[in-house]
Amino acid sequence: MKETKQFETESKELLNLMVNSIYSNHEVFLREMISNASDAIDKYRYLSVNSKGELPIDDGEIRISIDKKKRTITISDNGIGMDKDEITSNLGTIARSGSKDFIKKFKEAKESKDIDIIGQFGVGFYSAFMVASKVEVITKKHNQEAYKFTSDGKDSYTIEESKREGHGSDIIIYLKKDKDENFDAYLEEYKIRELVKKYSDYIRYPIKMKVKKSKPKLDKDGKEIEGKYDEIIEDETLNSMVPIWKKNKSEVTEEELNDFYKSKFQDYEDPLLSIRLDIEGKVNYRALVFIPSHQPYNLYSDNYEKGLALYSKEVFIKEKCPELIPDYLKFVKGVVDSDAFNLNISREILQSSPILKVIAENLEKKIVARIKELKDNDKEKFEKFWKNFGEHIKYGIYSTYGQKKDLLQDVLVFHSLLKDDAYISLKEYVEAMKKDQKDIYYISGSNLASIRLLPQLEKYKKKEIDVLLLDQKIDEFAVMMLGEYDKKAFKSVSSDDVNESSEEEKEKVENVTVTHRRLIDTLKEALKDNVDDVIISSKLVDAPVCISTKEGLSLEMEKTLNEQEVDGEKVKSSKVLELNPGHPLFIAFTNIENDDEMVKKYASILYAEALLLEGYDKFDKLEFIQDINELIALALNK
Ligand code: ADP
Repeated sequence: MKETKQFETESKELLNLMVNSIYSNHEVFLREMISNASDAIDKYRYLSVNSKGELPIDDGEIRISIDKKKRTITISDNGIGMDKDEITSNLGTIARSGSKDFIKKFKEAKESKDIDIIGQFGVGFYSAFMVASKVEVITKKHNQEAYKFTSDGKDSYTIEESKREGHGSDIIIYLKKDKDENFDAYLEEYKIRELVKKYSDYIRYPIKMKVKKSKPKLDKDGKEIEGKYDEIIEDETLNSMVPIWKKNKSEVTEEELNDFYKSKFQDYEDPLLSIRLDIEGKVNYRALVFIPSHQPYNLYSDNYEKGLALYSKEVFIKEKCPELIPDYLKFVKGVVDSDAFNLNISREILQSSPILKVIAENLEKKIVARIKELKDNDKEKFEKFWKNFGEHIKYGIYSTYGQKKDLLQDVLVFHSLLKDDAYISLKEYVEAMKKDQKDIYYISGSNLASIRLLPQLEKYKKKEIDVLLLDQKIDEFAVMMLGEYDKKAFKSVSSDDVNESSEEEKEKVENVTVTHRRLIDTLKEALKDNVDDVIISSKLVDAPVCISTKEGLSLEMEKTLNEQEVDGEKVKSSKVLELNPGHPLFIAFTNIENDDEMVKKYASILYAEALLLEGYDKFDKLEFIQDINELIALALNK
């Protein structure tokens, strides 16, 4: 007997949305059917295990069959099946909170014209109607009658008795005919393969399909006949079932991990580091994360998307979940699988999910710990990591206003004055500090070669006091955010108040300052647009002059900030011109110190020279050359 029943109102609403939505990601229907099949097998197996032999325990299996003539795809399972009442309550009604949420969100979205939310929900059984003009479900519980549900997904459905071998369900999808959309693609073997791989590869039951294969024809003696083939039809399991991250560590070889990484994340090179995590804690999760051997080619482009793939119970939820990884680790790739998520969780709910946050925080700590381990145990690999991603770690410190200081400070390494090419960690620096050295010294510049030439370093080299050489733009900003390490402050040797001089040297400076007050004041007056002060200094050994800045903004930072702010207001560091009283150039100036006009005239040479020594070329070059030419002429004509 065939009964016709009306869908309940909410179901109608949802069906209507499914069918008429402009949402184009129709292919997820297959994922939904497979996931339901897998759930149904889970339920059957659970019952049979607990049935004391009443229900036979058999292997779960999902089967996809295609009938090109009838234009149907059938998804079959040997799961729990449904009786007549269950068909009505499960398929005629939406019980799921997810679906109710979906309708609610959809209505809200419609008002705000944000139609995209449809793509953000797993929508269950009704998603079949996105591609189907008719759906039949033939379903049978163990030792009970089979029933058939039929609907076109509009207002009503029918239920009638039917026949089926064994327990389980067949979902028969009659594909729509549509000129605008190629629903026929779903009848192709390759398409089904592709969709299973994409969405359901890790479903724990085999998803089988009969596929055509050709095998070499054999002669009477069983030998292959060249060039002749038999077409045979064979069962093939389309999914790999056990995700590599679910396997025990001992079962997975390094090579398998590398292959997985390369195929999943489309890289041609093995990863630098693979991290496997199996966490049981506040939230249980498994993760497999990778640090690439090189920078992803689009890492610095605007369309680079950070994030890890998210699975729940082996079912794919999302390709890139940005919430799982902090910005400074955006180069990390990987997958996270946690039973804690509902498969049909919406994007909005996912984004603010406290579970996601717990996992992300835990992951971040684990990843950083592994990087630190690398630093301590595998210098070569770590240096490779640092060259590619060190800047990002420093960015992590800077962009979080120092909140990640404790987590990240011991991953940092720098070049330094006394170590040629080797990196030095902050710990190593502090351990090597001189007895009476209070601060951690650093200096910044645009590249190592030019930093090493900076006049401020002469004294430190002579005294064998190490100085960190900061050659990346982010460095000084990160160091400022750190503020201190192991209770030692960071001090720029280019700042005006740093001085590693002896009492004797300081006394000399004072004497010269008093004696040549007039000269200093004239220079200061002449350069007042460029520098805030002119002083005699004991910092320099061979160089005649240098420029230091008052604590806060260095020349390098000034440059970086002004490069970023193209139209905005330029920042200006507070500069001090320091003179080496022992240098012949200074002595030459003292010879003309009573001639204010002459001093003023050549003051700009001192300033330009200081800037040049610091690696800057923003000064009036024409004036500089004219002054030099005049001096040469003067000297030659003497
Ligand atoms: P969900 O699976 O999230 O509960 P669906 O709309 O996909 O929501 O399915 C509704 C219900 O229909 C399921 O909860 C299940 O009870 C039943 N169902 C769907 N597909 C099957 C199937 N293949 N075998 C048995 N029951 C099924």
